[in-house]
Amino acid sequence: MHEGAVLLNIKTRFQRELIYTYIGSILVSVNPYRMYNIYGTDMVLLYKGHALGENPPHLFAIANAAYSKLMDANHNQVIIISGESGSGKTEATKLVLRYLAAIQHTSNIAQQVCTSPLMESFGNAKTVRNDNSSRFGKYIEVFLENGVISGAITSQYLLEKSRIVFQAKDERNYHIFYEMLAGLPSQQKRAFYLQDAETYYYLNQGGDCGITGKNDAEDYRRLVAAMEILHFAAEDQASIFRVLASILHLGNIFFQRHEVLISAQEIRVVSELLQISPEGLQKAITYKVTVPLCALACFFGFRDAVAKILYSLLFHWLTEKINSQVYPHQHTLSISILDIYGFEVSDLTFNSFEQLCINYANEYLQFFFNRIIFREEQEEYSREQVLWQDIPFSDNQPCIDLVAAKPHGILRILDDQSCFPQATDHTFLQKCHYHHVHNPLYIKPKMPTPEFGIKHYAGRVTYQVCFHVIFVHLVYCQQQVSAVPPGAGGEDGEVTKHFMVILWYVSYLFLSFLLFRCNPFFVRCIKPNNLKDPRVFEDELVSHQLRHSGILETIRIRREGYPIRMQFDVFLFRYKSLVGVHQIPAASGENCVLMLSKLCPLRPGLYHVGVTKANIYQLLECKRERSRHLAA
Ligand code: ADP
Ligand code: MG
Repeated sequence: MHEGAVLLNIKTRFQRELIYTYIGSILVSVNPYRMYNIYGTDMVLLYKGHALGENPPHLFAIANAAYSKLMDANHNQVIIISGESGSGKTEATKLVLRYLAAIQHTSNIAQQVCTSPLMESFGNAKTVRNDNSSRFGKYIEVFLENGVISGAITSQYLLEKSRIVFQAKDERNYHIFYEMLAGLPSQQKRAFYLQDAETYYYLNQGGDCGITGKNDAEDYRRLVAAMEILHFAAEDQASIFRVLASILHLGNIFFQRHEVLISAQEIRVVSELLQISPEGLQKAITYKVTVPLCALACFFGFRDAVAKILYSLLFHWLTEKINSQVYPHQHTLSISILDIYGFEVSDLTFNSFEQLCINYANEYLQFFFNRIIFREEQEEYSREQVLWQDIPFSDNQPCIDLVAAKPHGILRILDDQSCFPQATDHTFLQKCHYHHVHNPLYIKPKMPTPEFGIKHYAGRVTYQVCFHVIFVHLVYCQQQVSAVPPGAGGEDGEVTKHFMVILWYVSYLFLSFLLFRCNPFFVRCIKPNNLKDPRVFEDELVSHQLRHSGILETIRIRREGYPIRMQFDVFLFRYKSLVGVHQIPAASGENCVLMLSKLCPLRPGLYHVGVTKANIYQLLECKRERSRHLAA
């Protein structure tokens, strides 16, 4: 069990069209970029009611295990699906939901939860990695009453807001804008003063407004049909498009030096669509808070902030609207699925506050993963009454501290600085440098550029500091934070209003929420290549993901102890022919030791007989292989 062996295994299986592999209790899933016929009713029946190891590795086995455990232990279950963008997380989420729906007699609700294209239109976009990349974290709780789905609640986190106002080359804004412009009847389009996608600054920055293989007009019709199914009133539908249209017009407002607005036409249109006074709107986007308004960028900052607020409120409203259709009567036991988008480290992207938040959330999730896997290991040892030595494992606590610990974590400094009207990029950075310059995870730039770097578990990231932009974030987020229940600061106790906003922003609250739930199942999705090609398996790329997903660390921890555990009966059955026995002896530890002693010299530490399991794998497997060769 080492990196090379794991890689070879996963690769060989991938080439044999076996995309799922277990590593301990973790399911590794390699994106096949092609639909295999492995999710039909026959497969549902194969996995339904069977324990994890009984059938070949499969996502359905995990879904079934969560379901069975919920029924047996009467406890909530969580399935955490992680991986790089384009590795198959969202597909996996849908497949788990499909499985849960398929084992039901009546699957109306489940169907509604998993088939609605609405969230995808509003929350997915084309990126260089994935034409249909989800740009928000999704947490779906499926509630069960006596094993039957009674409702579901979807929560969304960390919607990527920068995309609403900025797209990198070859990327797009959220699908919904292009679908609307391609599909809206011309009469309605005129009513909202809309033109083609290419004319909008918020839509055309990536270069190409179309996606090969995606028909936006067709998807618009699908979307409207979905709205009908979910009982969206006609005026609700019109309001949605009105808000979307106003965002697009907002993006075409330009400023000349300082406060001079040069887009009276857009101002008029936006204020008409939003039914607010033009003066009010003008004031909102040129609003002077206590930030020094030295840069033109500030104006754009406020214009963009208004666009982002509008879109996030719309997304929030939409999620609630969908939830209201399938909301459970009461909060019974649930199976939750977390689909969170992971680190996206690239030199091409502009990393700022938003990326810091996303990366921190992922760092935190990794921390949680380490802890759980480690604890599971420890529990198995104590169940088997095997002596447990402390196995060191690399923890990412130092990175979490660097970002958020009291009193000088980067987010704390940010919080502190945002109370000073005179604070600037420079003062904020100086504070960060001062407190962390000796931290091995912190990178102070060699040149006096307004940035700092962090060595995350998944790689180095450089963050640009734009203090005024962060400040705008904080100002507008405050409105949304009223939704946070009092005292939700967790162990932080008293936190400042701003810090509350920051915590909310990084979804700390939901992550710590998750910690209270036990028994997570982990699905680690892997991308075999960046070409979306079903035939290519790039060793280097996969190795990188294995290393950075914590899988190799898990393996190391297991290897330090007793990595292979076999039930007594399985052990005796498997190796009986090596000692020339045909009848399987009674399943007990003594019989296993007896058999072992005939096969190899027994050294303490080489094997351990637990309460139900024994272990000394490699040696015996070699013998078994050899004897089979001889027999052949
Ligand atoms: P992520 O959510 O991790 O960014 P997606 O779930 O959107 O990635 O997957 C990206 C694409 O990969 C999908 O659109 C689909 O074409 C393909 N894909 C992912 N998982 C599977 C699977 N299990 N079987 C077949 N194709 C898949
Ligand atoms: Mg996704």
